[in-house]
Amino acid sequence: MLPHSVGAHVVWVCSAWCVLVHGDVGSGPSLEKQTLDLMDKYPLIDGHNDLALQLRIRHKNKLSQVDPYHISEVATDINRLRLGHVGAQVFASYVLCGAQDKDAVRLALEQIDVILRLCSEWPDFELVTSSEGLKNTRKIACILSLEGGHSIDSSLPALRMFYRIGVRSMSLTHTCNTPWAESSSKIYPTYKKENNSLSDFGKAVVQEMNRLGMLVDLSHSSWATARAVLNVSVAPVIFSHSSAYTVCNHERNVPDNLLHALKKNKGLIMVNLYSVFVGCGPSANVSVVADHFDHIRRQIGAESIGIGGDFDGAKDFPDGLEDVSKYPALIQELLRRNWTEAELAGVLRLNFVRVFEEVERVRDKLKDSPPSEAEIPLQMVNSSCRLILRPPPALSSVIRVRNSSTILSAGSLLWMLYHAYLLLW
Ligand SMILES: [Zn+2]
Repeated sequence: MLPHSVGAHVVWVCSAWCVLVHGDVGSGPSLEKQTLDLMDKYPLIDGHNDLALQLRIRHKNKLSQVDPYHISEVATDINRLRLGHVGAQVFASYVLCGAQDKDAVRLALEQIDVILRLCSEWPDFELVTSSEGLKNTRKIACILSLEGGHSIDSSLPALRMFYRIGVRSMSLTHTCNTPWAESSSKIYPTYKKENNSLSDFGKAVVQEMNRLGMLVDLSHSSWATARAVLNVSVAPVIFSHSSAYTVCNHERNVPDNLLHALKKNKGLIMVNLYSVFVGCGPSANVSVVADHFDHIRRQIGAESIGIGGDFDGAKDFPDGLEDVSKYPALIQELLRRNWTEAELAGVLRLNFVRVFEEVERVRDKLKDSPPSEAEIPLQMVNSSCRLILRPPPALSSVIRVRNSSTILSAGSLLWMLYHAYLLLW
């Protein structure tokens, strides 16, 4: 299935890309043609993109003011997705950690709203919520993800509602810990974990995601949390935008022992292209990115690898990989390094489809399990924004008051007591 490969388009892609992006004709046109033919046959499923965040920051989510084919100052628009041979994009609904315990749920809903709007109003896109939909669409597939578990406000009912409106993947943390899982970043001291990197409630979140058929995303989680999740999840998990720690020693990357645990889980690491994560500095190039792919393939095989560009979620990207139109440069470099077409078909697309299908198979197996009623212990959510509803005081204590010399009726007294009780809590 070739969702966007009409002849003239491919010719234009090739000439623009060959001249503007690569500039290096040493490898010869056959490698370039091989790259584009391969990407026509297996359009990329990219694991992570933050266009929605940029739409909020730059356009207050006013889609009517945005030309979907050309959006300045960002790395993603339809023209460039076409040039990059992107067949599906996982769009992140990302809410800053500052909103945790405040209005994170509202903000997440607003980000989902803008993604749902662009996926339905922009003619080249189609929202997909199943592996079947992903395989069958002839448009650029949109997959909806939540970035950061703080967006569910420690509530499994909220998680289920996010699933119902189309969310198919959630990273357990962003740069902040949640009350139930630990982040790889230490910049926020809130909900710091000692040795309980995934609490019992955190385990319940993972199990409920398994039951729903939602991909568990471990990018941004601490290594200890990732390890704990890999012990709990009965479905494959993903790192939607993380690279190899051995190649670049950054806490956001994945160390070899975790890569091996991921392989056992039959999960997927989708390599992040952000220069700081691939080159450990503000600059990098295509070759350094390819080193991450080579390393992970040596460790756990090409069938565990995908691509999660992280465009529009970070600033500095490698020379030659500056935006979503440049993915062919990476695939050509991997072909030059003797990656086989079968391996690259997996990296581009088939590995993600396999994981998504397996997550759905687990969901189907668990279809008779009831929704989880697990709740986070109240002492673990120290938020003044949380209203706790409790039953009214027992009737016997009210009757004692009623028998005293008061002029209030029992009904109005009960009403006042109940509201005073709510206010106190
Ligand atoms: Zn991220």
